[in-house]
Amino acid sequence: METILTIENLNKRYGRIQALKNVSFSIQKGRVYGILGPNGSGKSTTLGIVLNVVNKSSGNYRWFDGNVETHEALKKVGAIIERPNFYPYMTAEQNLKLVCKIKNINYAKVNEKLELVGLSERKDSKFSTFSLGMKQRLAIASALLNDPEILILDEPTNGLDPQGIHQIRDIIKKIASQGTTILLASHLLDEVEKVCSEVVVLRKGEVLYCGSVDGMSSNEGFFEISSNDNEVLKSVLSNLDAVGQIKEEEGKVLVYLKSELSASELNQFLFSKNVVLNHLVKRKNSLEAQFLELTKNTNPKSN
Ligand code: ADP
Ligand code: MG
Repeated sequence: METILTIENLNKRYGRIQALKNVSFSIQKGRVYGILGPNGSGKSTTLGIVLNVVNKSSGNYRWFDGNVETHEALKKVGAIIERPNFYPYMTAEQNLKLVCKIKNINYAKVNEKLELVGLSERKDSKFSTFSLGMKQRLAIASALLNDPEILILDEPTNGLDPQGIHQIRDIIKKIASQGTTILLASHLLDEVEKVCSEVVVLRKGEVLYCGSVDGMSSNEGFFEISSNDNEVLKSVLSNLDAVGQIKEEEGKVLVYLKSELSASELNQFLFSKNVVLNHLVKRKNSLEAQFLELTKNTNPKSN
């Protein structure tokens, strides 16, 4: 398997805000990845760091085999992380030709990519006459002009009407079916479920889950435990590979799993570290249900 991007223990602080905490995951060629998390969970920060527009606080990331400098590697990456911006008085075709000229790309790519995003018939229309959905599609065409290895999109359907959302998702699937690796950030569970095969779930800058989208819905659940000294309990837990996020709520420690771990395995491990539990419940709700739970109070428009 060919690795496109490896992220290891990435941390980011903005002053007192810790936006990312030990974020690790990797991206394999040819798959569609979603970074899923509520607003403020660190999705854009993660993308900004690997695209070299945000400085990391600590940790590492490597593009491809790690032997190319980030600056060189990014030439093989197509990214849309801001609202699309083109010259309003120029047509779709003229705007893309300008991008070709700047990046030294054959003009033949312009029509190929306009076709791909369904804008061939509107290629002679000025950018200023485009709907937001069309602008977004033009941005995708532009990011694909040099046939990148990976396409990165940050909340690609934000602000679009249902038809626009549908078109963008279809285009993303089409691009993926042609073999381009995709990484998209979204706060929408159903978007990730519809478009992606792999998902990294972020919550307050921490990875809650990382794996297949199917695995997310069949996820076994999480533990609710406590001992006489929850601080010791938490520090012992952090040594377990299967353990993702650890939270404390009303005296109970909530242990989210990254991979399978049975109640007896957990109990046995803690006992071997001299931690005796006075409460152990394995809760059955899936990560999907938890995600809905943790996002239901966020306003999707505020991003
Ligand atoms: P998301 O894309 O998932 O909505 P962000 O990566 O934009 O999340 O933000 C993660 C956290 O970092 C949030 O708490 C946000 O307020 C904070 N943050 C993001 N950018 C900045 C910045 N430039 N300065 C200060 N705080 C920031
Ligand atoms: Mg964001």
